[in-house]
Amino acid sequence: MKKSIFLSKSGDVHIGTIAIEGYMPVEKTEMENVIIRTKLKKFWRCHVCNDLYIGKNPPKICPTCKEKEAYVEINEKEFRSFLEIFFQRSLRPGLMDNRIPLPRSHA
Ligand SMILES: [Zn+2]
Repeated sequence: MKKSIFLSKSGDVHIGTIAIEGYMPVEKTEMENVIIRTKLKKFWRCHVCNDLYIGKNPPKICPTCKEKEAYVEINEKEFRSFLEIFFQRSLRPGLMDNRIPLPRSHA
């Protein structure tokens, strides 16, 4: 399923298929700015549907697959790897990987 980027008023970020109530959609090209603004927070991934989340605490119930307590903490490198998988060429290369190099064999 196609995933989109959503931003809460408090600055949390959810990347998933179904938006959490009150979250606003964000353009993919804004993703890097969003990550920079939230870099003191933690990265999370739903182990069922691979929704991603940036925030101090992940959603108790995954908005996309409705699984409870499904989010596991991941590091930024893993988070970016999943972003690449979701959005691939729609993100501008060079913006996404200035801190952690990702394989470029497909470029
Ligand atoms: Zn899920």
